Amino acid sequence: MAKETKTQGQKLAEKLFFKLKDCWEELDEKNEKKVEEFARLYKEFMNQGKTERECTGIAVKLLEKHGFVNIETLGGKQPKTGMKVYSNIKGKALTAAVLGKKPASDGCSILGAHIDSPRLDLKQSPLYEASGLALFDTHYYGGIKKYQWTTIPLAMHGIFVKEDGTEIKINIGENPDDPVFTITDLLPHLAREQMQKKASEAVEGEDLDILAGSRPYKDKEVKEKVKLNILSLLHDKYGITEKDFASAEIEFVPAFPARDIGLDRSMIGAYGHDDRCCAWPALMAMLSFTKTPEKTIVCYLSDKEEIGSEGNTGACSYGFKHFIWELCGGSEANLRLCLSRSSMLSADVSAAFDPTYADVFDKKNASYMGKGIVLTKYTGSGGKYGASDANAEFCAKVQALLDRNKIQWQFGELGKVDKGGGGTIALHAANLGIEVLDCGVPVLSMHSPFEVISKIDLYTTYRGYIAFLNDI
Ligand code: MN
Ligand code: MN
Repeated sequence: MAKETKTQGQKLAEKLFFKLKDCWEELDEKNEKKVEEFARLYKEFMNQGKTERECTGIAVKLLEKHGFVNIETLGGKQPKTGMKVYSNIKGKALTAAVLGKKPASDGCSILGAHIDSPRLDLKQSPLYEASGLALFDTHYYGGIKKYQWTTIPLAMHGIFVKEDGTEIKINIGENPDDPVFTITDLLPHLAREQMQKKASEAVEGEDLDILAGSRPYKDKEVKEKVKLNILSLLHDKYGITEKDFASAEIEFVPAFPARDIGLDRSMIGAYGHDDRCCAWPALMAMLSFTKTPEKTIVCYLSDKEEIGSEGNTGACSYGFKHFIWELCGGSEANLRLCLSRSSMLSADVSAAFDPTYADVFDKKNASYMGKGIVLTKYTGSGGKYGASDANAEFCAKVQALLDRNKIQWQFGELGKVDKGGGGTIALHAANLGIEVLDCGVPVLSMHSPFEVISKIDLYTTYRGYIAFLNDI
């Protein structure tokens, strides 16, 4: 046997310091395969679900496959122990639950993530022709660095709704045979003035116009021939006219698929990790329950987080609360009891420490790639404005449960004080009386067209969410 050579100080340091391990180093071969398989399914999901509507569609299909029924089909009857129910919130958000052995009024265990991501929306009258080119005028959605959205391939997603209510789904640019779209940028040769501008002004919001075509309609007698040709193509394929854009929800997103990053394939690059890298593990954690849980477990996938969670599909709306009310048998008193006794992980991403931009991070409070699930006690900006500051008692409870289940967690304040900030859906749930803690995956290049996460953090987060639903 080797001699004990540790000094008193070394032993004390081991006992007292909070040490963060690299999750990869802890991983055995069997779990390595699980990490890889989880990442593969996630990438598939990311390639299919690039908008909140598409993600809702995928989630509903998976839930139904796993025996969840639309709560509307119960005709007002109270869902019973062991039942799996879901509610589709206007096709853009959803809630799902497995009814536990205890009544819902004893409190639920909730995972809440968002499935909207920063993107470019079409304006109501977007199509115009200029100098022989057809262009789409956009209005960006969520916090983006505008210059990042030029000169990349873009795909067109969304729906048109005709006057008779017929919905026409659009998805152009994801199939390798599809055309894609792009936003042009100025060549460096002529960009002397542009390059002197602030990064926030180098490409302005009103300049994010998407190249849509350049082939004229063959008729000498008409004006705006290129625009007419685009409208004619859209009319032939989808039966729509220019007026239909006024009601449509068309979102332009990066056209590239999710890919492995690095020679070691340890990371995933994709559009929309924020917040689908938490939404997917949350949904998968729900689906992993084959037996009736003790408490009722709930998964909430919300919309509009990136623009403040307002609106009837956002976390400020009544949709989520109404679903919980239904789980409580339609009793307002039970709903209040339930909310005051419920626990929730606001499943959302944090900014991973980036050595290239080390200045904006507080190293000892930052989250790191490959170091596990991130617990963010508070978000907000400035003096914690707009934050949901999780209660110490609840934080300690979540930390203990992750430790108990051998799931590595790390801290994650979003950057140095006064360097910026952000928010999640946490405060909206907290305002209802629920205990909430932000908890998710660290991300590099957040809100860019191609964000990066670590496969091991994705898997650790999934395990963390299962542990939470089982054990809180
Ligand atoms: Mn987010
Ligand atoms: Mn975000």
